[in-house]
Amino acid sequence: MAQLELNHISKSFSGTIAVHDFNLAVETGEFISFLGPSGCGKTTTLRMLAGFEIPTSGTIRLDNRDLTLLPANKRNMGMVFQSYALFPNMTAAQNVGYGLKVAGKPKAEIEGRVNEMLDLIQMRDFARRYPNQLSGGQQQRLALARALAIRPQVLLLDEPLSALDAKIRLELRQEIRRIQQHLGITTIYVTHDQEEALSLSDRIVVMRRGVIQQVGTPQQIYNNPAGDFVAEFVGHINLLPVEVDQPRQGIVRLGSQLIRAGQFEHLNGRPVRLAVRPEELKSGFVEGANNLTGKIESVTYLGAIVRIRVDVDGHLVSLDMFNERALNIPAVGQPYAIHFPVGACWLTNGEKE
Ligand code: ATP
Repeated sequence: MAQLELNHISKSFSGTIAVHDFNLAVETGEFISFLGPSGCGKTTTLRMLAGFEIPTSGTIRLDNRDLTLLPANKRNMGMVFQSYALFPNMTAAQNVGYGLKVAGKPKAEIEGRVNEMLDLIQMRDFARRYPNQLSGGQQQRLALARALAIRPQVLLLDEPLSALDAKIRLELRQEIRRIQQHLGITTIYVTHDQEEALSLSDRIVVMRRGVIQQVGTPQQIYNNPAGDFVAEFVGHINLLPVEVDQPRQGIVRLGSQLIRAGQFEHLNGRPVRLAVRPEELKSGFVEGANNLTGKIESVTYLGAIVRIRVDVDGHLVSLDMFNERALNIPAVGQPYAIHFPVGACWLTNGEKE
């Protein structure tokens, strides 16, 4: 049985629908990310879980107990915000112990737990510092320790890494996952960063305009996106307008050239696009079919990979190559052949509605 359940949750703000019919069952210890663009309703959903917003309809249950109308401080959930929200006039240790003090725990117990939490985030030496004497990354680790000190049943994180710079963000991301797994705590993580969601989560909930588009493991979301929106939002993808040539075989025409897709379900009616990830494409001819020819339009060096854009009969196709040392980076304007592996190509005729 799921530990946390959101059943038919909707939320409107004076006529604006922020979240519509959200359903999710979360298992104990699961790490779930809500992923989507700005305004898709992920923060509102998290705030309903926390008890800062009341749903317009639907129910939230934790361990089979209805929480929907319960005040935030009765929910046994810990929350971490993008802005840290630490108390500036309290030391690191006092910040971590705050929730326990409010709960009236004995002094010795508070002290023990605070030390345990500071050890967990490897900040015991900073116990007496005030927030303004700490870096952004340290402040956010402290906010995490403060949220965890009350031993919540669920940890809620609202874009906790957005205010930090790239290197610290990466370090703290790993730190969050380590701590979450160490404690085995059920976690809901809000982000608009697909890389964070892919690297951290057991499952990802992709949202758009208040509606869930797909729930799945990172692999499912990336390899089997439920629609064009998910495919485009998570990772890079080529979505090329094609004409159907032989519907039964999944053979289509890109410009004047034929290509076969391995996955195609619905070729009826609406315009079809060929979907393929840039890293699946191969440079050069491969024996058999599915080789297209074009002209190099641009070459972008991205460090670990080189992204090449090839003009195929007026359509731009992106192809990623690993940056091997001996790599022969082609020149702009040069003729170029691309192999499309059949199994990596699928046909789509629009959004999931
Ligand atoms: P972001 O990443 O920008 O925070 P989000 O996906 O978290 O976006 P929400 O903050 O949940 O999105 O907002 C969803 C929708 O609800 C938006 O259209 C937003 O303008 C609206 N909304 C959120 N809170 C309120 C509020 N208190 N009053 C009115 N409208 C709101």
